[in-house]
Amino acid sequence: MDAPTPPPPAHAPLTIRMHAQDNVAIVANEGGLAAGTVLASGLVLVDRVPQGHKVALADIAADAPVLRYGIPIGHATKPIPAGSWVHERLLRMPDARALQQLPMATAKPAPQPPLEGYTFEGYRNADGSVGTRNLLAITQTVQCVAGVTEVAVQRIKAELLPRYPNVDDVVALAHGYGCGVAIDAPDAVVPIRTLRNISLNPNFGGEVMVVSLGCEKLQPERLLPPGSFAIRDERPPEDAALDVVCLQDDAHVGFMAMVEAIVRQAEPHLQRLNARRRETVPASELVVGVQCGGSDAFSGVTANPAVGFCTDLLVRAGASVMFSETTEVRDGIAQLTARATTPEVAEALVREMAWYDAYLQRGSADRSANTTPGNKAGGLSNIVEKAMGSIVKSGSAPIANVLSPGEKLRAKGLTYAATPASDFICGTLQLAAGMNLHVFTTGRGTPYGLAAVPVIKVATRSALARRWHDLMDVNAGTIADGTATIEEVGWELFHLMLAVASGRKKTWAEHWRLHNALVLFNPAPVT
Ligand code: CA
Repeated sequence: MDAPTPPPPAHAPLTIRMHAQDNVAIVANEGGLAAGTVLASGLVLVDRVPQGHKVALADIAADAPVLRYGIPIGHATKPIPAGSWVHERLLRMPDARALQQLPMATAKPAPQPPLEGYTFEGYRNADGSVGTRNLLAITQTVQCVAGVTEVAVQRIKAELLPRYPNVDDVVALAHGYGCGVAIDAPDAVVPIRTLRNISLNPNFGGEVMVVSLGCEKLQPERLLPPGSFAIRDERPPEDAALDVVCLQDDAHVGFMAMVEAIVRQAEPHLQRLNARRRETVPASELVVGVQCGGSDAFSGVTANPAVGFCTDLLVRAGASVMFSETTEVRDGIAQLTARATTPEVAEALVREMAWYDAYLQRGSADRSANTTPGNKAGGLSNIVEKAMGSIVKSGSAPIANVLSPGEKLRAKGLTYAATPASDFICGTLQLAAGMNLHVFTTGRGTPYGLAAVPVIKVATRSALARRWHDLMDVNAGTIADGTATIEEVGWELFHLMLAVASGRKKTWAEHWRLHNALVLFNPAPVT
């Protein structure tokens, strides 16, 4: 949120090597480096190498491994002389690691010292969870009601919200699911539990109100069966029927009657939410989802390592951190299973990878379908290279738990929440898991934001942080510029998280009210 920093002075050719064994480094200079440039090592570039792209540090023979992060990100398709631009057409991607004979819970990292004394101001919920914002959410069983609900939400905001100043906003949980789907197919459990668990996100204070059409497949009682949620008012549990407005109800004569019913229904919820106050809670109540999107070769050098350092701080503070994006960790599965706390956790990781391999195979695709034209233009040759840079967001803590898509978080510490890497689907599933703060790193730049939780965006390059000075919350490009360390940016992020969680600071996405759609992951058939 700081004022834009001035561009760094033009400096000498700068390349970054991630591991002592690497035979490539990436060019850090803005605008890249011209052919003929002499690096500090004396190496002369034989090609122009764009910023973020790889230069061969030594002659690489045909079929020899190209090493970045100390692992083969591919094999040379022909001899690559030292000083060449190593672009994706010169690399043959290795096969995915088989899911057998993996190291299971073998790493046993030494426990890091607890981090004590950090707090934030949050909204304590009846179930023990803590919100970072105080929002009225309107759950919807089916896309059919989205238009009517949106009209009602605009009226609630205009007419009611000014009377309830402690309520931050009203969020319409619109989505594309609910009907025209094979709702009894085994995989339909994923979108249904996702919607249910989003309704129960800590930022919604346990208030559940539902708008239903009437004839849809996803009936309100199926979405939120008795016992799946608590009602916050004084009614005895047996009377705690779901608070539903059904648009096809005979009582609604005409459109305005439906809108009126939703507006009326909102009022008691707003009254209860308005009575809530922030209180001081330990940093261990943070539930942080980390994600990357619009990645470039700097993602794995600057922003993601800083997030990884911050992940370790959060885990040391007793908080919950989720990392996700199955296709972006698939190539690092052996590191992850080794880091699992128990063989059971490692087996759950393997199960999620195997499920996703089969899911992709059904569509005649594999993990390599992940990378985008922007990733490649930003220097990421393939999914192996992208995955190695993505996985560092998880830091170094042991992996204590694994969630299937749409499940609710079960334990504190570091969790692998299995989700697709798609930004909106990953964010939607992390919301369902109960995240109350989101961290999103980007190199190419995306203006991503969510209505339900604050999203802190971290730029991988200073050029992006300058150009998008009112969209990026943290500039990790300072790490590549040599003006800050990974640790310094990690601590900056940690302190910013506490300020944002407390409501003392707003993220740029909140400031501009940038809200991407909820996008449910529906692996089941559509009818
Ligand atoms: Ca993503």
